[in-house]
Parts: sequence; structure tokens; C-alpha cells
Amino acid sequence: MKATIFQSPVCELKSLNNLFIEMTAKNCNQRCKHCFIDFPLSKKVKDFISQDTVKKALNDTLTEPLQCIYLTGAEPMTHPDFNSILRLCLKRTNVCICTNATFINEKKARFLKRVEDESRYELIFKLSIDHYDELKNDEIRGRGSYRQVLHAVKYLSKYDFNPILSVTNYYNESSKVLEENFISILNKIGFNADKRNICINEWYNPNNNPEDFNSSLQHVSTDCEYGRIVSEKGIYACPFLSNDHRGRCGSSFADYSRKISLETPYCNTCLKNKRQVFSINFSDFNS
Ligand code: SF4
Repeated sequence: MKATIFQSPVCELKSLNNLFIEMTAKNCNQRCKHCFIDFPLSKKVKDFISQDTVKKALNDTLTEPLQCIYLTGAEPMTHPDFNSILRLCLKRTNVCICTNATFINEKKARFLKRVEDESRYELIFKLSIDHYDELKNDEIRGRGSYRQVLHAVKYLSKYDFNPILSVTNYYNESSKVLEENFISILNKIGFNADKRNICINEWYNPNNNPEDFNSSLQHVSTDCEYGRIVSEKGIYACPFLSNDHRGRCGSSFADYSRKISLETPYCNTCLKNKRQVFSINFSDFNS
């Protein structure tokens, strides 16, 4: 019997619309069950991106059509220079903070509104929460995390932000049911949400087989088609593959690869979701 050789598909960057900045690779105050980050035991890791690296990335992408800069992590708001980096990015384009929401209280929401008002661009929030049932959510993300997110939504909406909930479908439930229940809860706390405020992603399963990806590639839109992530170590294809040699695209945006071979089980998560997992579909909000 002949052995078949699997050749992974190649994805080419169509347009650099999304710049992800990995503010910290491993620093987070939560330990969610489904997180794709391989955390060290200690929560006191200080692996923050330097302001110089951020400035260089912004400078090297001046001619790129950036639509949004995403501050990601682990938890981006643990960065000691978070406010300065946020201001820097807001001088360039819209910024989305991808956070577990634990650092957003009323004072912070008011401050962030002032920062947004200094800019001509928009400040957006993606808040991580995984279930509309408090117990089920806290089982994944840790006790108290559900309430923290709902408090953050209240404070952010009070200051006219329009936060998006980023939901990982850990329990493999009906997306429609998840969406309806989240909208109902948000409406109950006084935030007038619709389905654009709920972004549901299927859970990354490390046991997925990357070969499954091949046949359906043409039906999906992936983050690596429209973005790149910069970390302290270089440029990578997407947040899943940040600091992973399989996703490496170069050391800086001055000279980076626009092609990436889709060879990891993470790529199957993108197939499953059939759309970008990390970035926002702005056309939804413009319609
Ligand atoms: S994980 Fe998804 S976004 Fe990242 S390289 Fe694979 S297909 Fe592209």
C-alpha cells in the first residue's frame, strides 16, 4: 500500500488590516480551562512587550491599511505601560482591547472614555465570558469571573462603549441558544445588545487532525489572511501561533512573510469557525 504524503495548504496574507499586539505572552490573573496558552505555574511572569517594539511595529506598518489594532495577551491589561501603549495605538487607528474584564471598573471605564475622546479613532472591547449560566462560566474561568464581566459591561456601556462578548463554546452547545441567552442577560442589565455584540467561537481542540483542513480551505476566512501578530520575539501568523516556530513570519514588519503554511491543529479551529476567530467583522457594524 502506498503511503500518502500530506501537504499542508498555504495561506497568503490578502491585506494587513489587523495588527495584533501581544502585550504579554504568559501574564494572566486567570487560568481558564480551555485557554490555548501554556501557562507557567507562577502567575508572576513579567514578559511584557517593550514600548520600543510596539513603536517599531507601528512605524514599519505605516503604509499598510490597518483597520484595527488588537491588544491581546494572555491578559493585556496587566502590562505596566498599558495606558501609554493604548494611546500610541489610538493615534494610528481603531483599537480593540481583548480582555477578561477584571481590570475594568467604573473609574477605569471613565478614564478609557477620556483616552478615546483624545483620539479620532474608536476604542472597542472584546470581553471574555463563556457561558450565560454563572456556575457554568465560573467552572471554566474561575469564581467571580462572570460577575466581573457583567459589571464591566455596565460600566463600559455607561460611558457609551459598545462591548462585544467573546464566547468560547466550551460545552459544545447550540450557538443560537448561547447567543439568545447572552442577549437576554445583557438586556436585563440595561445594555441594549444584539447579535453583533456576541461573538461565539468553537473551542480549540488539540486533538483535531490538521489534514481535515485541506479540503475545506476555500470556505473559510482566517485571521492569517488579514492580520499578523507582533510579540517581543517577532512577527507571527496569528494569536494562536504567537511565539510558535510554525507560525513565524519574520523578526519585524520591515521584512516579513505574507505566506503561512497551515499545518497545526489550531488551523482546524479556524476551519470549524468558518470565519476569523480573533478579529472583528466591521462590516457587521456598518450594516
Ligand atoms: S491557526 Fe488559523 S489563523 Fe492561525 S495560521 Fe492556522 S488557519 Fe491561519
